Amino acid sequence: MIIGIPRETRAGETRVAATPETVKKLAASGAHTLVVEAGAGTESSLPDSDFQAAGARIGSAEEAFAADIVLKVRAPGADELPRLKRGAMLIGLLNPFDAAGLASVAATGVSGYALEWLPRISRAQSMDVLSSQANIAGYKAVILAANTYSRFMPMLMTAAGTVKAARVLILGVGVAGLQAIATAKRLGAVIEASDVRPSVKDQVESLGAKWVDVPYANDEERKIAEGVGGYARPMPPEWMARQGELIHERCKSVDILITTALIPGRPAPKLIKAATVAVMKPGAVIVDLAVEQGGNVEGSALDQIVTKNGVKIVGFGNLPALVATDASGLYARNVLNFLALSLNAKSGEFAVPKDDEIIKATLVCENGAVVPKS
Ligand code: NAD
Repeated sequence: MIIGIPRETRAGETRVAATPETVKKLAASGAHTLVVEAGAGTESSLPDSDFQAAGARIGSAEEAFAADIVLKVRAPGADELPRLKRGAMLIGLLNPFDAAGLASVAATGVSGYALEWLPRISRAQSMDVLSSQANIAGYKAVILAANTYSRFMPMLMTAAGTVKAARVLILGVGVAGLQAIATAKRLGAVIEASDVRPSVKDQVESLGAKWVDVPYANDEERKIAEGVGGYARPMPPEWMARQGELIHERCKSVDILITTALIPGRPAPKLIKAATVAVMKPGAVIVDLAVEQGGNVEGSALDQIVTKNGVKIVGFGNLPALVATDASGLYARNVLNFLALSLNAKSGEFAVPKDDEIIKATLVCENGAVVPKS
């Protein structure tokens, strides 16, 4: 088999779907040829020479896309789709929520596997790209906030007087939110956090943050809040209104607000209205991690820092790409583990286990058609 690793061409995308480490493992059996597009790893500080030393051949974009198995971070662009070979296996973040985009990938005749749809079962944890990348995003959100904030994060007692610790509020405590708490804690901030799912409270408290409780008015609200498959569901407007009021009050004393709330396949819930931004202190910083899904914060703008009444709203869309080397390293290992379902790295044997729960969940197109999902 030929395994191709094209260079990512989407604006701002610095990651690459394989690293010298994973290439070496894939090349180990001698049964497969690895073709890495020239410069594919440059923005992740992974030079062509390292890929070559790991056993890959450096080739053109055409050669990398014409492989039997193509490893990508993002879905190929319109100009790249014609380079794919009918019947090839395409693995990446194919954005299955974009119906038109998915249809155009399907039209190439590839078997497309969208890693967004990996089931949240323990066997798939080592392949879970959403978790590995959200972890990085949560870390980088805090670093960006600290960099944008014009005060210290920790409490300091100096000869010139005492500096107060920053008060950080984190809304949405999944993988990214938990890492944001851990990172802000290391920087010495005082942290509060909230989520719709009640199971998160213990995790928040074990990281040393205070849980902000938005009570449920009835059993129905509590049931919805538990979510499904580890993911949140949209909450009723009454709960959202109560959450909005409580957070509005909290925001009056918050220095840094980090929002990470997402609901798969839907626009991000709007948690912070313009009126809440208006009551925040001048110099406060908001980082909206959900900006690519429409944003949790009214007024956040993709890849911009917007200032409203002295409050800076950071809306960078692809935070993992700002930590390119580690983001690529973890992503590539996730992809390698996914590929291991079909490819035995030692013997080189290749057979896709069509009945495997993970394969079935992620297969989004095949034989020229989109695979319908229930
Ligand atoms: P996500 O990125 O889809 O959402 C981020 C957070 O936003 C979630 O915690 C969600 O509950 C929260 N949220 C949604 N709407 C909200 C609202 N209106 N107000 C406040 N918060 C809101 O989620 P994620 O980080 O990918 O993971 C969610 C959970 O799944 C985590 O608890 C994680 O530990 C778990 N998980 C399990 C596995 C596994 O078992 N294999 C793998 C990965 C993650």
